[in-house]
Amino acid sequence: MTHLCVSLTEPDTDALLSAIRSLPPEVDMAEVRLDRMQSFDLERICAGRDRPIIVTNRPVKQRGGWQGAESERLATLRRAAELGADYVDVELEAAGELGPLSGGAARIVSYHNFQRMPRELDAVLTRLQRAGADVAKIAARAEDICDVAPLFGLLQRRGERVPLIALAMGEAGVASRILAGKFGAFLTFASRAEGAESAPGQVPAEEMVEMYRFPRINPRTEVYGVVADPVAHSMSPAIHNAAFAEAGLDAVYLPFKVSEPGPFLDAFQPHDLRGLSVTIPHKETMVGLMDEVDEQAAGIGAVNTVRIDQDGRRYGCNTDVAAAVAAIRAAVRRSEVGPMDECEVLIVGAGGAARAIAYGLASRAGRLVIANRTRERAERLAKEFGAQVRELDAIASLNPDILVNATSVGMWPNVDDTPVPAEMLGAGMVVFDAVYNPIRTRLLREAEEAGAATASGMEWFVNQAVAQFEFWTDREAPRPAMERVVRARLEEGG
Ligand code: NAP
Repeated sequence: MTHLCVSLTEPDTDALLSAIRSLPPEVDMAEVRLDRMQSFDLERICAGRDRPIIVTNRPVKQRGGWQGAESERLATLRRAAELGADYVDVELEAAGELGPLSGGAARIVSYHNFQRMPRELDAVLTRLQRAGADVAKIAARAEDICDVAPLFGLLQRRGERVPLIALAMGEAGVASRILAGKFGAFLTFASRAEGAESAPGQVPAEEMVEMYRFPRINPRTEVYGVVADPVAHSMSPAIHNAAFAEAGLDAVYLPFKVSEPGPFLDAFQPHDLRGLSVTIPHKETMVGLMDEVDEQAAGIGAVNTVRIDQDGRRYGCNTDVAAAVAAIRAAVRRSEVGPMDECEVLIVGAGGAARAIAYGLASRAGRLVIANRTRERAERLAKEFGAQVRELDAIASLNPDILVNATSVGMWPNVDDTPVPAEMLGAGMVVFDAVYNPIRTRLLREAEEAGAATASGMEWFVNQAVAQFEFWTDREAPRPAMERVVRARLEEGG
């Protein structure tokens, strides 16, 4: 079993002991970063801990906080071992000088590279073993997500060699921290809370336990994720991990910050990568990387969902279009506008969202009108789907049956903005806002006040996530659980 270890950087002994005791039970180890403490009492720390500890005292030249003499630094580590610390961490360069440890502490010998992932990982592991490691640790900066996969390979082929910690630092390395349990690493490090990281890329312990279900990750766990750049604020890991948990599936969903989707697929596919959500800016590139794409994805030229079968074949589809149409259809059913193929639809906006919606409605609606701040973009889109174009500042005189906001106007934090004047909203109309943060935008509030039937961007978002889950797993998605997660996220964040 791979340990979940929280690295602690509290200022003094009392704060440290109270932090250790308040860690969730799933965290079965704590790292004490002496070099980050203003004062410490090793005897009290070792006597007062309620779970195994690693004592670390990193010098400044290894990006730690210890500024004192080297001899004193190493003496502190020896003393920690004497007092009963379970593990003592020493850098490869200092392992010889540290000498043998008394008191039964195991010796973690660590290699750090803050610039790059070394090519010769096996040679590094050999050096760590020769330096007397009971546990070897390799932590190197990942410049790109593709740097992470060689660590998985090293963990898998280490065989009878020493227990190994192999982590990639930085945002690109997050996968190495979450998937440590899949590849049999000795431990992974998490932070106590957001903002309390001792190394870049650490995930808060609560998120590791609650969202990623780290203690359950094992060699058979299937890997899914969202491919995006940037990816940090994606809601997809929350919604899909909740769905996997609810459905009782042995699967985990990660954020993948990817700059080049092709090399990423090649690097991760051998490691049980089974499915992906794809978003900005990779939807178009992904089309050419698939063995097969469905009609809709081929038609719109964008893949937002990938399934990878056991035989390695890649299937791409697009759940955006059908999900948006379904959200609009549901609102049409709640309204009095009549059949969709007799409706006039006004789409405000001409970006990616507008294109997906126009594609979905072109063959289903009676008439399409597009208005956009940048007229040339509206014209391009209109030409593609046989729509008409109106100036954005002249739309107040229009009287569409269905109004779609496909701009980012009204999105958090500019929640008081709205793309159309309230006067043009009325009963007997359907208003769909692609913006999902906040859930109830000013446009939707004003539409409801005017008696219109509404559909929110959240419905679109949940619909497409439900379709992704079903495309990957061939089972019915746990929609209520997924919706609950999105609602909670948006209500707490917005
Ligand atoms: P995009 O490709 O960047 O397009 C942005 C659109 O908004 C363009 O038409 C742009 O006009 C317009 N716009 C931006 N600021 C404006 C302003 N101040 N006044 C007037 N128009 C403005 O973005 P996108 O991917 O289409 O996304 C648009 C919105 O849809 C975002 O809020 C996004 O979160 C949402 N969305 C939601 C879902 C969902 O699942 N609910 C899915 C996709 C997108 P110009 O052409 O003049 O720049």
